[in-house]
Amino acid sequence: MTIIRGATTIVQDNKTEISASVKELLDEVFAVNVLQKEEVKCFIFSLTTDIHSYHPAKAARESGYDFAPLFAAIEPEIDGGLKLCIRLMLLTELADNRAAKHIYQKGAKTLRKDISEKLNIALDGPAGSGKSTVAKVLAKDYNILYLDTGAMYRACGLKALRLGIDTKDGAAVAKMLPSLDVKVEYKDGKQHTLLDGEDVSSAIRENAVSMAASNVSAHPAVRIKMVEMQREIAGSMSCVLDGRDIGSTVLPNAKFKFFVTADSAVRAERRYKELQARGENVDFEKLHEEIKARDKQDSEREFSPLKCADDAIVVDTSAMDIDEVVATIKKHIQSKI
Ligand code: C5P
Repeated sequence: MTIIRGATTIVQDNKTEISASVKELLDEVFAVNVLQKEEVKCFIFSLTTDIHSYHPAKAARESGYDFAPLFAAIEPEIDGGLKLCIRLMLLTELADNRAAKHIYQKGAKTLRKDISEKLNIALDGPAGSGKSTVAKVLAKDYNILYLDTGAMYRACGLKALRLGIDTKDGAAVAKMLPSLDVKVEYKDGKQHTLLDGEDVSSAIRENAVSMAASNVSAHPAVRIKMVEMQREIAGSMSCVLDGRDIGSTVLPNAKFKFFVTADSAVRAERRYKELQARGENVDFEKLHEEIKARDKQDSEREFSPLKCADDAIVVDTSAMDIDEVVATIKKHIQSKI
């Protein structure tokens, strides 16, 4: 008996997607393993609890895979587990005892990092475009790491503020860099940003730090240090990175690049609500002006500006809610992996 494994993910729980994904998975499993009908003894599927719309076994039968018994079962719900996932276990008797080739498609590639290519997703865009919220959802759903690169620049800005250094003064900021120790750690799947050993995850979100981060991030010496760290992290594992220059500079070869944007008033509104929820009272008009100033500064700086990479897909989120943005981005990803 030889067991061939496979898995795939869907973007939305509907019959059309389930049928298409099951067929796509089986077609590849059969093609890659050069399977003959009589070699297959049983199809076993399992599906995550968020799939309700259709039976994968029925979908398989309707696609012509009806020559062996088919069975499907629900998997236990696991915290942090991959979402909307269909797994396959094919029991076979291979005529020549050839080795099984397991097939992991789409988001399910992250389940078998040993046999799948790394998944790097670059999300760039201006402040308040929704990219960090989307990045967190993608990271959770694909079970990959989320690296918030803005947090690293924020930590650098915070240190300069604390030391009373003029954040616009490139020479002064460069002088501070050898003693700057920024690290990111992950606890319960959440990024924690450490500045000189102190967890500053909350402190860096204060509004005063936003402009300081934008100021320090314009200095080449700062960018060189941060980009090096970001490449190191992304090079070692599947992850989604959000920032301003991920697709253009940090990971120019990333397979998936998105430029997430929205009207500046919409973005200011989102930040306003976010700061209010944190108990920080700010004037809306002032915040809007600050966001525009930060956009301008981030886009016009000479070194590694905020830029939509030539091969990035632009997603305007002005009139979309988070679910719609996530679905749009996932659709692009699924069609390419
Ligand atoms: O995304 P967030 O608002 O946290 O980023 C803070 C600032 O850090 C941005 O305004 C931008 O100037 C800078 N930044 C950057 N490159 C990145 C991420 C953030 O220049 N990759």
